[in-house]
Amino acid sequence: MAVVGLGAAGAATLYQLARRGISAVGIDRFSPPHIYGSTHGDTRITREAIGEGEAYTPLVQRSHAIWRELEAETGQQLLTQCGGLILESAGGGAAGHHRHEFLASTIACANRYGIKHELLSAADVAGRFPQFGLDGNESAYYEPTAGFVRPERCVEAQLTVAGRLGAEIRRDERVLAVESSATGVRLRTDRGVVEAGRVVLAVGAWVRDFVAAEQVQLFNVYRQVLQWYELKPNAVDHTPGAMPVFIWGLSDGNAFYGFPAIDGTREIKVANEQLDTATGADEASLEVDPDEPRQLYDSLIGKRLPGLSPHCLRAVRCLYTVTPDANFVIDDHPDLPGVLLVSPCSGHGFKHSAGLGEAIAQRITAGESDADLSPFRLDRFGAAV
Ligand SMILES: Cc1cc2nc3c(=O)[nH]c(=O)nc-3n(C[C@H](O)[C@H](O)[C@H](O)COP(=O)(O)OP(=O)(O)OC[C@H]3O[C@@H](n4cnc5c(N)ncnc54)[C@H](O)[C@@H]3O)c2cc1C
Repeated sequence: MAVVGLGAAGAATLYQLARRGISAVGIDRFSPPHIYGSTHGDTRITREAIGEGEAYTPLVQRSHAIWRELEAETGQQLLTQCGGLILESAGGGAAGHHRHEFLASTIACANRYGIKHELLSAADVAGRFPQFGLDGNESAYYEPTAGFVRPERCVEAQLTVAGRLGAEIRRDERVLAVESSATGVRLRTDRGVVEAGRVVLAVGAWVRDFVAAEQVQLFNVYRQVLQWYELKPNAVDHTPGAMPVFIWGLSDGNAFYGFPAIDGTREIKVANEQLDTATGADEASLEVDPDEPRQLYDSLIGKRLPGLSPHCLRAVRCLYTVTPDANFVIDDHPDLPGVLLVSPCSGHGFKHSAGLGEAIAQRITAGESDADLSPFRLDRFGAAV
């Protein structure tokens, strides 16, 4: 078996293959975890009631269990369940990735799976979470088991344990071509040739390099910016426990999200989403113009998170790979027998990645997985493929 791309999905898959005693090689063009793809920036929100679709909940629930196992094995803290708030301003509702009625679908999902939660009024939120500057017309969903995951640590932990269990990890090796061969699949890399019975292609924003023209249009890449603002000296407590992770859908259709101040720092990570201008994985500038965080602060953040100063301590670029319905693609490659195409992004994939790695390993070794991957088939896009 070979896994191409060792980011969130690939590292999880390699780990799960290694756990099953399957001989596997993982290849990445960089040295993961790294800053060039979609899996960096210290933290990712995780929540069990998934407003993006109820099919995702089993994946995130398995992910939480797997991260706890990995924490026990590696001694690393990976998952912090400090609570999560989905806030919706009156007239809002698009608080996530092309979604409408995000709050309502989150609540429906929580009810379906029996996920513990509370529905809060603006006054409730103001009383419990003074970090937020509300207008008074907001409604909210609070999930106590939501929180954040550490993407770099998760990748590192899974690769470390996979290596310990016998997986071969090839860093800084770029796969140039994936071809059918007499015995399965041949990978041509910038260092030679790798033959494999089956291949998991989990190359993130570079997926466009490995699909035919008809499918390229299904995967649009958008440059995103994460920024860390400094807390004001007199700010209320913003640490986990006092402050939840949050996603806030605003009445003008914008949304932004953020995290508490972690690891003893006085910095708060906040971001919005940019889905207007598509780019390419190699074209999206790594540099962040200081105007970008400044504009975000002035237009969105300053008023709604009154404890934050305009001083942006750092900012990084990250990449979304977004499909037309903002759901994952996990399916057999249309043109390459033996290759599984894995594109779990659209800006919400990390929380599912450990469970997804398990489901992918089950699928390519046993033909089926405990988690239902059928919602992620390519043929839902009809004639496009
Ligand atoms: C700003 C931002 C915020 C996000 N917030 C959240 C969140 O709060 N919660 C959440 O659940 N999700 C979130 N996500 C989404 C989540 O991070 C992604 O879904 C996930 O990281 C995607 O992982 P991946 O494995 O598909 O891609 P990647 O992690 O980018 O992995 C792809 C790998 O393939 C390698 N590769 C590419 N081409 C080749 C090649 N030719 N040869 C060899 N290797 C190759 C790359 O080097 C890379 O390591 C966010 C994403 C971004 C960008």
